[in-house]
Amino acid sequence: MTEPKQLHHQDIALEQQTQQKCSPPELTLEQQMQQKCREWQQRLRLADWDVTVKVVPAMDMSSTQAQGCIHWRITEKTADIKLVTPEDAVKQNPMRPYNLEETLIHELLHLHMAPFEPDSSEQTECMAMEWTINAIAGALLKLANSQESANV
Ligand SMILES: [Zn+2]
Repeated sequence: MTEPKQLHHQDIALEQQTQQKCSPPELTLEQQMQQKCREWQQRLRLADWDVTVKVVPAMDMSSTQAQGCIHWRITEKTADIKLVTPEDAVKQNPMRPYNLEETLIHELLHLHMAPFEPDSSEQTECMAMEWTINAIAGALLKLANSQESANV
C-alpha cells in the first residue's frame, strides 16, 4: 500500500510550449535531492522506506547549527530528512564544507543505525556514531562519483 504522493506540477508557460526548442523544466534543488534520495535508497537497500526530503533555512532545522537532520518512524518505515540550504550552510560555518548529497547519504545511513541509536545523553557514543556515519557517507559518495566519471 502506498500513500498518495504529492505531485509537483510544473507550470509551463504557453509561450514556452510553442517554442521549437523545449528543454525539460529545471528541477528545484529540493526535487533534485528527492531524486538523489531515491537513488541512494536503492543503493543502500532502503528502498522500502518512504523518505521525504526538504531543503530548508537553518531556522527550520531542529538545531540551527545542523546541516541535516532526520526523523524516522521505524515501525511505519517513514522518514523525513531536512537539509539546510547551501546559503545558510555557509552562514552557519564558512569554513565547514557542505555537500548536500553527502549530507543526504549521512541522514539515510542513520536509518540503518536506528536500532543501535545510543541514548542521546551518551555524548561519546553519539559522537562516535556521527563520525562513523560521516566516514561511510564520504567514502560512498567518493566511490559513486568515481564510478560515474568512469562511465562517461
Ligand atoms: Zn548524523
